[in-house]
Amino acid sequence: ATPTALLVGTGRGAQLGILIKGPEVLESTRAVDTVVLDKTGTVTTGRMALVEVHVAEGVDTEEAVRLAGALENASEHPIAQAIVAGARDRVGDLPSVEDFTNVEGLGVQGIVDGKAVLVGRTALLEEWAHHLPEDLAKAKAAEEELGRTAVVVGWDGKARAVLVVADTVKPTSAEAITQLRALGLTPVLLTGDNEAVARAVAAEVGITEVIAEVLPKDKVDVVKRLQGEGKVVAMVGDGVNDAAALAQADLGLAMGTGTDVAIEASDLTLVRGDLRAAVDAIRLSRRTLRTIK
Ligand code: ADP
Ligand code: MG
Repeated sequence: ATPTALLVGTGRGAQLGILIKGPEVLESTRAVDTVVLDKTGTVTTGRMALVEVHVAEGVDTEEAVRLAGALENASEHPIAQAIVAGARDRVGDLPSVEDFTNVEGLGVQGIVDGKAVLVGRTALLEEWAHHLPEDLAKAKAAEEELGRTAVVVGWDGKARAVLVVADTVKPTSAEAITQLRALGLTPVLLTGDNEAVARAVAAEVGITEVIAEVLPKDKVDVVKRLQGEGKVVAMVGDGVNDAAALAQADLGLAMGTGTDVAIEASDLTLVRGDLRAAVDAIRLSRRTLRTIK
């Protein structure tokens, strides 16, 4: 590959809204056959809204929203931001939180108004040896059938509410997936979110391969496993929890709207956070390399 042709490719990339770390990056895109896509913030906007609150019998909805909102105020997760915004809308000012802990991939916990509060996955609830009462479990399952994310809220030793946040698929994602397939690439959706939500999002954009409920630290192992099967893997992600997988992938693509950590770990940055730019990047590299040969 002549440096000049590669540099021309790099310049064209900038015009398309793709920042390329170095000209050699374009060479590694050529053999890519599998594109692993993070769900939240990559395929979806990552901007979720609080759309529903289910409470256990005898529980005050406002209190559930206030305690969860106060706790999530200390987290930067997209789910947390939706809950905080929704809580402020409904109950106004939120109390402060003490002893806040982020349990990676599971949720958050801390003390609000002297109460030990948790918000997160059922697995976090189980760590506290709480169980989800049947009415809440049913409501949660029904919401997940709809492709929404439902998190559990517990305090004072019990699971007391289920908060539902809905994220929306980016309007350009389905088109990008169609274009990836047209290039002969296999898209795979990878997420820490639950299987039903992941399946619903995948179906909406036309992805059939889904790997769900993967802890942040295990995302990199999924990429390694695919590589072990002989796949040449591009990974597209946005979050801190995607960084190791982005670095491990044969080609790492970060959403420009994502975290600096993800951008630093990647070979390419899609400036506008539009998945179609990933397709442009792969097309560009193929075209650039054809010119060189
Ligand atoms: P993704 O891989 O889709 O970016 P994460 O690994 O960040 O998702 O989170 C996995 C799951 O853990 C979330 O879908 C949610 O159920 C739970 N979770 C993580 N952080 C929080 C939080 N701050 N509040 C509530 N739930 C959370
Ligand atoms: Mg993410």
